[in-house]
Amino acid sequence: MANSPASNKRVKVLIVGAGPVGLVSAMRLAEAGQPVTLIEAGPTVNEDLRASTWHPPTLDMLDVYGLAEPLIAQGLITPTWQIRLHSTGERALFDLGILKDETPHPYRLQCEQYRLGHLIAPRLQANPLVDLRFSTRLLSFEQHADGVRATVEDGNGPQVIDTEWLIGADGGRSTVRDGLGAEFDGLTYPETTILAATRFPFHEHLKGLSNVNYVWSDWGTYSLLRLPHLWRCSLYPEEGETIEQALTPPSIERKLQYIVPKDGPYEVMEVRPYRVHQRIVKEYRYGRVVLAGDAAHINAPSGGMGMNGGIHDAFNLTDKLLKVLRGEAGEELIDLYARQRRPIALDEILKQADRNRTRMQERDPERRRKELAQMQAIADDPVRAKAHLLKSSMIDGLRQAAEIA
Ligand SMILES: Cc1cc2nc3c(=O)[nH]c(=O)nc-3n(C[C@H](O)[C@H](O)[C@H](O)COP(=O)(O)OP(=O)(O)OC[C@H]3O[C@@H](n4cnc5c(N)ncnc54)[C@H](O)[C@@H]3O)c2cc1C
Repeated sequence: MANSPASNKRVKVLIVGAGPVGLVSAMRLAEAGQPVTLIEAGPTVNEDLRASTWHPPTLDMLDVYGLAEPLIAQGLITPTWQIRLHSTGERALFDLGILKDETPHPYRLQCEQYRLGHLIAPRLQANPLVDLRFSTRLLSFEQHADGVRATVEDGNGPQVIDTEWLIGADGGRSTVRDGLGAEFDGLTYPETTILAATRFPFHEHLKGLSNVNYVWSDWGTYSLLRLPHLWRCSLYPEEGETIEQALTPPSIERKLQYIVPKDGPYEVMEVRPYRVHQRIVKEYRYGRVVLAGDAAHINAPSGGMGMNGGIHDAFNLTDKLLKVLRGEAGEELIDLYARQRRPIALDEILKQADRNRTRMQERDPERRRKELAQMQAIADDPVRAKAHLLKSSMIDGLRQAAEIA
């Protein structure tokens, strides 16, 4: 029966958003014995093609919950990634094998983001401590001294949920963040990226390709990311081309033909434009309301760090929230989550993603050559390569966060 304000019950934790961050947070709290209500505006786990790269420490964390193995079984173990010049095939090749003493998962995993949702959602639905409600949207909330009153809508009219804690894991367009009046400082990059998915086996045509490739080409830049049954290509409008023109089948076809010319057209399964932002909130905690994942910070996808960083937020936050809920610590412990995770988002995730994006947007052939030579010098020196990979694989950031008191 639908809750009405009169029949309103008080919950301990209300999580808004069943993306990777909300799902992981709910799982960790419930499996440690805490009841959780998780609401998701969509009717199911979102299956859009978004994150594809899982970094080693994220796999290490998920392994504790038996989730790394089924993800690995559905993905592609990716020991190397590369930056490449299309015209010559020259590349800087980074081999994550060098991290074998640092992590049991010394590779990137290429696997669709929604597969984690498909593993966690049924597990939550089977857990009597979890109230998982799809097609339920947070409309607004008010904060009181000892909790939060949220108004949600599930198609049967507005309902009220009183909660001790509210976690805003509702993504880049967060209603929770808006309700807090929190500014999302930063910028939106000028370019529109066009994601095109095709089954064409690029690896059989471009010599020495990894499963993750960032490529400079004479006509611009592109990336090729491999998933088990398809290649995901990031393309950009050509000079003088509008977004609308760039999204048309002939334009997509032309760009794919530049990458590998072939007889007959490409079979393109999905085309999606997206804008890229770099933004972060000033505070992660506002009393009993806490932000995590894309609701708190968003970055360029180059380097694959948004979802991974959000999952790292979820682990850090729920560690602390569990202690507070059990009465083992005061609520000020949640401030430590903010102190540990915000600088990492700012200095490690946003800045690295920005550097990766800027590097690949470089158009000047001379500067590209110089950059490639620098990246090759790092990749070919075991000490520098290890340092680079500890950082780009997000291990460094987690270690730095753990040092913050
Ligand atoms: C093309 C692309 C490629 C990417 N590649 C990578 C990658 O390789 N690696 C990586 O780490 N990251 C990558 N990212 C980023 C990654 O997709 C996001 O960082 C990640 O989805 C953030 O997870 P989240 O749970 O914070 O938010 P989301 O996944 O956005 O989930 C938020 C959820 O909240 C729900 N919601 C919103 N408002 C409400 C409301 N009012 N009430 C109830 N529910 C609500 C939404 O429906 C949604 O399901 C990529 C992103 C894009 C666009």
